[in-house]
Amino acid sequence: MATDLLSPPIQQVLIVDDEVINLKVLSNLLRDEANIILAKSGKQAIRKARELSPDLIILDIKMPEMDGFETLSELHQSPQTAAIPVIFITGLSDEHYEEKGLLLGAADYIFKPFHPGIVKARVHTHLQLVRQRNMLEHLANCDSLTSLANRRYYKKILTQQWISAIQRKQPVSLAIFDIDNFKHYNDDFGHDAGDHLLRQVSAILACQFEEKPLLISRFGGEEFVALMPTYTQVKARQLIEQSVERVSENTDVTISAGGSTCIPNDTSSSSALFSKADKALYVAKARGKNCVIWSEEHFV
Ligand code: GH3
Ligand code: MG
Ligand code: MG
Repeated sequence: MATDLLSPPIQQVLIVDDEVINLKVLSNLLRDEANIILAKSGKQAIRKARELSPDLIILDIKMPEMDGFETLSELHQSPQTAAIPVIFITGLSDEHYEEKGLLLGAADYIFKPFHPGIVKARVHTHLQLVRQRNMLEHLANCDSLTSLANRRYYKKILTQQWISAIQRKQPVSLAIFDIDNFKHYNDDFGHDAGDHLLRQVSAILACQFEEKPLLISRFGGEEFVALMPTYTQVKARQLIEQSVERVSENTDVTISAGGSTCIPNDTSSSSALFSKADKALYVAKARGKNCVIWSEEHFV
């Protein structure tokens, strides 16, 4: 989740044109604005867009086999590429084409022969819009105190992973962490020290759940939820036990965790999985804290 907003990554622009000379002119023109990726056909463009997720696509309309309109429609059909803004750049100066392109969802339309300064300025503006959109998305998905994913993002990913687990008949494991006696810690050392501790615990958990497809989120207050798609109970439990140990070894507090695993099907619900983990957490607290309890209740 931690993205450095002050120095955003270099952006990528995919330029698509069947004529090599156009690719050369445009890439020379836009070299200072972004990393340039080139494609000589609609098919190649779709493949590269899926593989490399560019920030912006500049798309010629008149190309053999698959024209720019078809290419745009296909890009819009795949969730991986649907949100990438596309600028049409074309010799087709007919207003009907411009209208068609914009109605299909193009972000902009530029006529050939183009004025280099105008193309550069428009690309610059669209790349800036992409940066702003990414920043808003990051802010909407990220907890500001700890920089972990927030509850909103966790729910979004849980929904996606749940569907994927049903399709692939794979397990999903989920665990809830809760800091032990945190109210006392705040009372004894003050709220600022409490915040600092929340950040310390979060940093440890962020390291523990760094790898894909794992996700750690701040669910609220001093509670964190770990989502472990594809993880069996044994594998998930190991990771959670290690996380609980790491926190007790490296901070002034301990945490407790409750976990649950299931292989979901059409009739099971992710809220049932959560509620099993929550009950297990309650047992962990009752058994003296600083420990992990896994729900043994199986459900479909
Ligand atoms: P238990 O071991 O049973 O979990 O006890 P606890 O004291 O941790 O649990 P309780 O629910 O009684 O208290 C949670 C505390 O967490 C109370 C609240 O002030 C503190 N807390 C929640 N969010 C924040 C935060 O953002 N910053 C700080 N400093 N404290 C927070
Ligand atoms: Mg052409
Ligand atoms: Mg607590």
